[in-house]
Amino acid sequence: MEKKRMRRIGVLTSGGDAPGMNAAVRAVVRTCIQYGVTPIGIYRGYNGLINGDMEELNARSVNGITSKGGTMLYTARSPEFATPEGVKRAVDTCRYKGIDGIIAIGGDGTFRGARDLAENGINTVGIPGTIDNDIACSHYSIGFDTAANTAIEAIDKLADTMQSHERCSVVEVMGRGAGHLALYVGLAVGATAIITPEKPFDFETDVAEKIREGKYHGKHHHLIIVAEGTGKTEEIARNIRESTGMESRVTIIGHVQRGGSPSARDRCMASRMGHYAVCRLLDGESNIVVVYRDSHICHLPITEGLSMKKSLDDYMYQVAREIGI
Ligand code: ATP
Repeated sequence: MEKKRMRRIGVLTSGGDAPGMNAAVRAVVRTCIQYGVTPIGIYRGYNGLINGDMEELNARSVNGITSKGGTMLYTARSPEFATPEGVKRAVDTCRYKGIDGIIAIGGDGTFRGARDLAENGINTVGIPGTIDNDIACSHYSIGFDTAANTAIEAIDKLADTMQSHERCSVVEVMGRGAGHLALYVGLAVGATAIITPEKPFDFETDVAEKIREGKYHGKHHHLIIVAEGTGKTEEIARNIRESTGMESRVTIIGHVQRGGSPSARDRCMASRMGHYAVCRLLDGESNIVVVYRDSHICHLPITEGLSMKKSLDDYMYQVAREIGI
């Protein structure tokens, strides 16, 4: 297919940062250069688009960034952009700076912003980037693998000391309102129980009884993984102490999970998605989001993507429950 003539393509990262965003930015920049388009790095999410906080990038500007967590473009949440006046200012900036297309890396909020820009005449493509993996239209979002590995490494270390002291460790894993990260991590570390916002749980049967049964069979330490979105971490630890008599400690891994050098999976996925996004803009596509579905990188209209719902992987949940003790 003949490529559309574009002068400048802007790239921004928005919402929470995720390891791998840099690899996506690098891929966007290098693909633009490959096709004779000038890449523009927009700083601090949509704020940069409103304020003209941006600069032309070249192949060297993105040298050596794939191994770095965070985002070289910085990120921000921009309440101003989520207003009609904010969108108008951003569109004016694009016109003034000669930007024909925007690639926005982030979560659902970021895609809503990209949709608004597209509806006001700026070509846009979204790329899923969030450690929570809660973007319904894509089976994968950049950052998830690294965040999971970071949490697993921390929990493995914690398990060593918990085992030595014969304690129960209640670990809170990030994920905002979703339990995808907690479930994945919980399965990987062999948790006794995984508590997520999506699945109802009964403390007595799902936690206390399993701990008592484990004790009976000679297991003297336990790992309980709790998704932050449940808001129940402290309560669960307290209940374990009261109802089983087992010493239990809370560990909140927190923002450590958002940092660190991206995994191979995140670097490669981000590079492919960044390349794909530029190619679609050059094909004349707009108002779309790049998605990973059934082992393929493809795309969907943003509106369709935003209308989808994501549930927890039922089979993974079943496996975790059935081998968790
Ligand atoms: P994360 O999942 O990491 O939080 P996100 O992209 O969902 O990422 P948000 O803070 O929800 O993070 O959104 C990022 C930015 O996108 C907002 O600060 C705002 O500028 C823009 N945005 C969010 N919602 C809308 C909307 N309804 N219309 C226009 N722009 C929006």
